[in-house]
Amino acid sequence: QANARKRIILPDGTELPKLGQGTWNMGDDLSKRQQEIEALRLGVELGMTVIDTAEMYGEGKSEEMVGEALKDIRNQVFLVSKVYPHNASKEKIKEACENSLRRLKTEFLDLYLLHWRGSVPLKDVVEGMEQLKEEGKIKRWGVSNFDASAMEELLSIPGGENCQINQVLYHLGSRGIEYELIPWHESHQIPLMAYSPLAQGGDLNSRLLSSASVNEIGEKYGASPQQILLAWAIHKEGIMAIPKSGNPTHTASNGASVEINFTEEELKELDRAFPAPNHRTSLDII
Ligand code: NDP
Repeated sequence: QANARKRIILPDGTELPKLGQGTWNMGDDLSKRQQEIEALRLGVELGMTVIDTAEMYGEGKSEEMVGEALKDIRNQVFLVSKVYPHNASKEKIKEACENSLRRLKTEFLDLYLLHWRGSVPLKDVVEGMEQLKEEGKIKRWGVSNFDASAMEELLSIPGGENCQINQVLYHLGSRGIEYELIPWHESHQIPLMAYSPLAQGGDLNSRLLSSASVNEIGEKYGASPQQILLAWAIHKEGIMAIPKSGNPTHTASNGASVEINFTEEELKELDRAFPAPNHRTSLDII
């Protein structure tokens, strides 16, 4: 388990750390901007070098903030952005990508994701992505919010096998992907990127954070419940996570959670407290 958790390997051989950083809801509030920038840069220093954004986040404000945060450290970062499904046609994807590059003040994306499946045929999305690769605007591409049948369909399309990752919701309180999607990804050796690994805010988040099992295990490691949730989200091989924090203290604590390696007993205890469904469920999406 200890080794499995340190890195994931993309199909093209690229190795990525198990923890990166999300940026949804960042960049919206100018009064928070300096602190958010500080948090992201600290995260990079601590090894959380995968940064995830999207043209959707604040309609470009998140990408602009990320561009500012990374201006002198771009080469230390694996930069990920996402295209709206309605911009993913062959006609529109180039302009959408160029707009993201301009806001991010960079010449290329390390990874470009289809944010979710829309009405553009997957064949056209793949061709558009491959074209962007040829033009050097992106290094590689992947998808987000795809279930196993969508992944199967994607891989049946010429070029679809170049998909490098699928970014989906995954945390201790939402384990539906363990039934079908994780096994599918394991058998195809395509990793997963877990979003909302802290279950965002809200009721479910409070239920997880106040759980006796989470807190007792946390005490053993001198870890916060958030650190337990993060360590859990990345405990399986081939799954990394992208917690979001605009607070440097939280970022530092998130970064340290990679050090936690659960025992089998602890994993069983968390299974008892928050069981995975034993039947197929539709993909949880935010
Ligand atoms: P997360 O599960 O990462 O939770 C973020 C919340 O947790 C924020 O309120 C943050 O507040 C708080 N937080 C973070 N670290 C700590 C800590 N150590 N202690 C206490 N509170 C903490 O939710 P997100 O939905 O943001 O998911 C992460 C990322 O995944 C997104 O930012 C985005 O990049 C991506 N995503 C992708 C989606 C998709 O459809 N592909 C959908 C949703 C998210 P604070 O900033 O104050 O620390």
